[in-house]
Amino acid sequence: MDDTACTPADLDRLHDAMTEERSRLLERVGDHHRSGPVSGDSADRAELGVETELDVLIETQDRELLRQVDFMLERLESGLYPVCVACGAPVGRARQEAFPRATSCVDCARRPRRS
Ligand SMILES: [Zn+2]
Repeated sequence: MDDTACTPADLDRLHDAMTEERSRLLERVGDHHRSGPVSGDSADRAELGVETELDVLIETQDRELLRQVDFMLERLESGLYPVCVACGAPVGRARQEAFPRATSCVDCARRPRRS
C-alpha cells in the first residue's frame, strides 16, 4: 500500500534508538549534577560562574531532548506512533528517518503551532 509508511521493523529500530538516546541523556543530565559544586565557599562558586551558566544551558537542552525522547517512547509503547500528534495522519517514513523525534507530520510541522 503506502510504501512511505513506517514498518514494525522501523518502529522497533526507532524504539531501540530512543531507549539508547534516553540513557545517554540521563547520564549527561546526571553528570551536570555530579560535576557541580556540592560544597565550597563563595570564591569557588564565583570562579565557576561562567562555566555554570553554560552548564545550565546545556542541561536545559538535554532536559528538553529527554522530554522529547520520553514522549516518543511513550507514544511508541502505547502504539500511538507513527501517527501525527496533531492531526492523526501517519508520520511518513522519510520524515521519521530525518527527524527521529518528530511526533507530527510534515504538514503540521510546517503549520504554526496553535496554543
Ligand atoms: Zn499532522
